[in-house]
Amino acid sequence: MSNLPDEAFRDTIGTIDEGGNRKFIFPKKPSGKFYNYRKIVSYVLLAILIANPFIKVNGNQFMMFNVMERRFNIFGSPFWPQDFYLFVISMLVGIVFIILFTVVFGRIFCGWICPQTIFLEMVFRRIEYWIDGDRGAQSRLARQEWNAEKIRKRLIKWSIFFLISFGIANVFLAYLVGSDVLFLMVEEGPVQQASNFVALLIFTGVFYFVFVWFREQVCIIACPYGRLQGVLLDNKSINVAYDFVRGEKEAGRAKFNKKEDRAITGKGDCIDCHQCVHVCPMGIDIRNGTQLECTNCTACIDECDTIMETVGLPKGLIRYASEDEIAKKEPFKFTARMKGYTAVLFILLSVFAGMLFLRTDVEAIILRLPGQLFQHKGDKISNVYTYKIVNKTMNDYNDIHFELINQKGQIKNVGKEHFKVKKEGISQGTLFIEIEKALLESDKTKVEIGVYNGKELLETTSTNFLGPRSFN
Ligand code: SF4
Ligand code: SF4
Repeated sequence: MSNLPDEAFRDTIGTIDEGGNRKFIFPKKPSGKFYNYRKIVSYVLLAILIANPFIKVNGNQFMMFNVMERRFNIFGSPFWPQDFYLFVISMLVGIVFIILFTVVFGRIFCGWICPQTIFLEMVFRRIEYWIDGDRGAQSRLARQEWNAEKIRKRLIKWSIFFLISFGIANVFLAYLVGSDVLFLMVEEGPVQQASNFVALLIFTGVFYFVFVWFREQVCIIACPYGRLQGVLLDNKSINVAYDFVRGEKEAGRAKFNKKEDRAITGKGDCIDCHQCVHVCPMGIDIRNGTQLECTNCTACIDECDTIMETVGLPKGLIRYASEDEIAKKEPFKFTARMKGYTAVLFILLSVFAGMLFLRTDVEAIILRLPGQLFQHKGDKISNVYTYKIVNKTMNDYNDIHFELINQKGQIKNVGKEHFKVKKEGISQGTLFIEIEKALLESDKTKVEIGVYNGKELLETTSTNFLGPRSFN
């Protein structure tokens, strides 16, 4: 017989059986220190996630990602297509941050922060435990015929799941199109807001499908972050890990025997109770080592700690630890790779903060009209320009006008000299700049133009003013 470890677990995933059919996992209800902490973190994050699109700051939705209209609000600051570079940098910062975090702390994001995990484990699964019971009862119910009890439980559970999916879809839509549009839909009814209503129904269907049927397969099959783990993790990354040195020792794991002194028999501390497997929502055995499916949910830590306590052995057989910490007893080190990522993250964050600081609420673009040179108007030279003013705020500006800042001369707006730019609005037009010929020192003068609302300077921009080559 071969002494090689059984590697069969690498050929399958816990959610699909040998016949290739969906295999439902009925994990044991978790309990313990980490689960309690996770509950607190999850409900705080859920409250933030749900409240975000309904909070307003200076009239702006706190968080909005309106991809269709290319309007984004982050922490109450509106970002327009003109700010796209900021959005790209914030995305880069986010990605580097997640990579750094993964290199150092493994999949802590998946276990503690990911909305999929929070909704599945802390909302849907908890309702399931409440209606269907714990692992054994759930599996019995799934196998039993469709009698009155099963129909009643399924109807209650699926109705509640549908309502929650509908609620999540509403929040999701509020992030996408804005909470104002959502309230408008409630006010005007689905017929008036048909496209949004259809989107709402589709989202509800997707969430219902994910949380009723697809479940943990999102993490295994669909999530790109999960697939990246093999590249990001190394022997120094901290993960939920089984201490195989202590668990197996020289003689391997074995069932618990009260009369046995394991120090003498050389058996490991793992009593092969399988409780860590039963509690795992991904259907894996952590004792096989770090696996793609493991979301670092910590349920097996809690479960094993309870077992260790019961049999009088030290806790922490499964714990947060790196491979090197377990195999070589090496303490945690901040490696060169981690330092590199931290440096990149720091640079990106600084650039992002600087750009945010320099960003203005009003954007002014003034460009010379293509193909036009300059005109003589008596003793003045005139240049023609097009302008575009973008008001990124939720306030109307009622008295917008232009003034030259670094040069004497006049700005003549075609149309009204003083005009309005509505909140989140754009104003475009044509203007002339006239400067006395005697004041020009070259054929190309850089002029600075101030955009004012009343007396308040909102933005300055610069452009070139062309004049004749000879000044004699
Ligand atoms: S819960 Fe702990 S003792 Fe039980 S099988 Fe898992 S690792 Fe071994
Ligand atoms: S192995 Fe442990 S930490 Fe990983 S998913 Fe399963 S229970 Fe959670």
